[in-house]
Amino acid sequence: MTTLLIENPAGLDHIMPPGHPEQVPRLEAVNAALAAPAFSGLARQEAPLAEEADLLLAHPQGYIDAIKGAMPEAGLVALDPDTHASPGSWDAALKCVGGMITAVDAVLDGRANNAFLATRPPGHHAEKTRAMGFCFFGTVAIGALHALERRGLSRVAIVDFDVHHGNGTQDILWDETRTLFVSSHQMPLFPGTGAASERGAANNILNLPLPPGSDGPYMRGVYEARVFPALRAFAPEMILISAGFDAHRADPLANLTWDETDFSWVTREICALADEICDGRVVSTLEGGYDLPALAASVAAHVTELMEHSG
Ligand SMILES: [Zn+2]
Repeated sequence: MTTLLIENPAGLDHIMPPGHPEQVPRLEAVNAALAAPAFSGLARQEAPLAEEADLLLAHPQGYIDAIKGAMPEAGLVALDPDTHASPGSWDAALKCVGGMITAVDAVLDGRANNAFLATRPPGHHAEKTRAMGFCFFGTVAIGALHALERRGLSRVAIVDFDVHHGNGTQDILWDETRTLFVSSHQMPLFPGTGAASERGAANNILNLPLPPGSDGPYMRGVYEARVFPALRAFAPEMILISAGFDAHRADPLANLTWDETDFSWVTREICALADEICDGRVVSTLEGGYDLPALAASVAAHVTELMEHSG
């Protein structure tokens, strides 16, 4: 058994304007880190294109048609001040979702213990009917809904440790009682949502705002006191991770002071919990992380822990 790495070369054709933080070199840095000999034991698979039916799990037809219609044949278009599309963006975004479906199926079918998607664009800011925050489609939410609707699972948890609130995942899963969505994030910060009072239609959302400047040990205390007990109580059959690495102290978009060892810790603890309650089933997808060396080191730390738990 193994850790599956889903690769998305199409993510290299999703072009942003000069100076934009969600840039092609992010994926190049991640791919370079995972090309090291330490990761030769990964099973690797290229992400396929998602089907439209996959997108429809989370987004209405009109939204899908609007995004497809907005894709440029040349140059760039801005869907909002942060979110741009180039001619390669449609395939890149569809392969994020297709990769997520592939990874969920691989883990549920026992072809891998766990999986990581090295991919871009990210997805957790995409709401049902709004592209924003560099995101087009709710990749991780679609993964959860695929497991529930098509694979017969009853409960799926999502842990989002990106430094920004996963407002899109929250929007898509607001009244979905078969999911538990847990998000830790700096507050105040983009996108402004994620207060502890936002709990979903049936207490199915747990938002854990973290103060600017707070560190890894503070985060560990929050996860031990709030996240892990909530996961145990929910007893998911699978855990999905929105793995953003922008809580790193070097990240230019936020003000938390985690480092690689904190990403190792949180991954290790989630995997240990998954071993305990859901046969170790974990699928993790890349979200943010904008300092290239910190991103590369943090992804390496994260995937190393996934591999440690795949035996
Ligand atoms: Zn982020």
